[in-house]
Amino acid sequence: MTTLLFRNAEVDGELVDVRVEGHMVTAVGPGLSNAGAELIDAGGGALLPGLHDHHLHLLAIAAARRSIDCGSAAVRDEAGLRAALAVPGTGWLRGTNYHESVAGELDRTVLDRWVPDRPVRIQHRSGALWMLNSAAVKKVSHVLDGSIDVERDGAGQPTGRLWRYDDRLRAALVDDPPDLGPVGADLTGFGITGVTDATPDIDSTAIELIAAARESGTLPQRVVLLGAATDARLPAGIEAGPYKLLLRDHDLPSYDELAARVATSHDAHRPVAVHCVSRESLLLTLAVLADIGAVDGDRIEHAGVVPPGVGEQMAELGVRVVTQPGFLRERGDAYARDVAEDDLPHLYPHAGLLADGVSVAVSSDAPFGPLDPWQVIAAAVERRSAAGVVLGEAERVSAATALAGYLAPPDDPGGPPRRIVPGAAADLCLLHAPVRTALASLDRSLVRTVVIDGVAHVGEHPANQ
Ligand SMILES: [Zn+2]
Repeated sequence: MTTLLFRNAEVDGELVDVRVEGHMVTAVGPGLSNAGAELIDAGGGALLPGLHDHHLHLLAIAAARRSIDCGSAAVRDEAGLRAALAVPGTGWLRGTNYHESVAGELDRTVLDRWVPDRPVRIQHRSGALWMLNSAAVKKVSHVLDGSIDVERDGAGQPTGRLWRYDDRLRAALVDDPPDLGPVGADLTGFGITGVTDATPDIDSTAIELIAAARESGTLPQRVVLLGAATDARLPAGIEAGPYKLLLRDHDLPSYDELAARVATSHDAHRPVAVHCVSRESLLLTLAVLADIGAVDGDRIEHAGVVPPGVGEQMAELGVRVVTQPGFLRERGDAYARDVAEDDLPHLYPHAGLLADGVSVAVSSDAPFGPLDPWQVIAAAVERRSAAGVVLGEAERVSAATALAGYLAPPDDPGGPPRRIVPGAAADLCLLHAPVRTALASLDRSLVRTVVIDGVAHVGEHPANQ
C-alpha cells in the first residue's frame, strides 16, 4: 500500500496537507506528518478531485487516434504527410483518404523512409487501394496471394500496393484491436481519473478490451458503461451506469416503443440516459418520462436543442443534462450555417438550464468532440466557433461552473462536486497553480500529478514532459 503526503496543497481555497493511504484520503489539515509517506510538495498548487468525463467513447477514441487523415484538406504535401505520420507508439498506423496530389505514388520503399519501425497502411481516397510499408507487408504476408491485386516488382516481391484487398486484409488484422493505452495516457495527462463510456449496446468484445486495458494498467481510469446490457457481468473497476437509449432523429421510436424501453430499464433498477439532439427527440423523451415517471439518475445526453419553457419541465422531472460545449467550437460554424433559425438560440443551452434548476455537467463526447477537458471548459465559457462566431452568448457559464461538472460524481453529473476529505477515494489531480490561475488559463499543461486509486501518475502527457 502506497502512502502519499501532499504538502501545502490548495484544497477548497485553503493551504493544507493531504495524506493518502492506499485507496483513500485519510487526513486533510495543516502540518501533517510525512512519516512513512512519499512526500509531494504541492507548492500551493490546487489539489482537486480527479476529473470525470461523463460522456465519451473509449474505443472510438482509440480508433480515431490511429486513423490519420491523409487527404489533401488535412495534409498539403510530403512534409505534411510525414509530420502527420509521426505519431508516437508501436502498433499499426492507419491512414485514410490519400490522393497522389499530396505526395505522389506510395509504395513500401517510400513509406519505409517515413515510417521504418512500425506497420503502416494507408488507404487511397478511392477505397480501392491500400499502400503498406515493409513492416505491414510482413504482418500480412500470409494473406498476400498470387493474384494481380498484389502488385509486385521485377523480382516478384510485393511493392506494398494492394488492390481491392479490404476483405482479405481484414482477415490478417485480427491482431490489431484499438489500443487503449494512448487513450489512458492522454486522459491521465488531462487530469481525468474516471470516464463514462456512452457507447450504446456495447458488446462483450469491447468490454473485454476495456477490461484488459484496465487490468494491464494502461487504462488506469475508472470506467462506467452506459451501454452495458442489464444482465452483463462486468469485471472489477467497470460499472454499469444509466442505460443508454439512442434516439435516431430520422427514425424516432413511437411514444409506446420509447415508453416500453424506458419502463424496462427502470424495472431493472437502471435509470436511462437518452440521446436527444433534436427538439423532437427531447420533447418525446420528456413526455414519456412525465407519464411513466422519472427516476433518480435519468439523464439527457446532449440536449442539443431545448426550446423555451422546457428547462422548467426538466427541472420538475429531475432529469439531468450532460452537454458538450466542445461542439460549439468544433462545429459551431456549421451550426450557424445549417441549423434552423428558430433552433439556433436554443442550441446546447447551459446557463439557462442552470437558472431553471436543471443539473448540468459538461463532457467531451470524444472522439466526436475534443477530449481535453480544459478546452471543453474554455468552450463552455466562450461558446465561440473556430471562425469566432459566438453561439448563445446568454448561455455562457464561468470556468468554475464548467469545471464543477468534471468534479461531480459519476452517478450524479451536475450534482455537487466531490470533495477531498478523509474517506474520499484517492482519485486526485494536482495542478501546478492555484485554482484561480488554472481557471484563468485553462491549459492542460497545468496538470502536474494525477492519482488514480492511490497510484500516482506523473507527467505522462507530452505537454508535461
Ligand atoms: Zn456520444
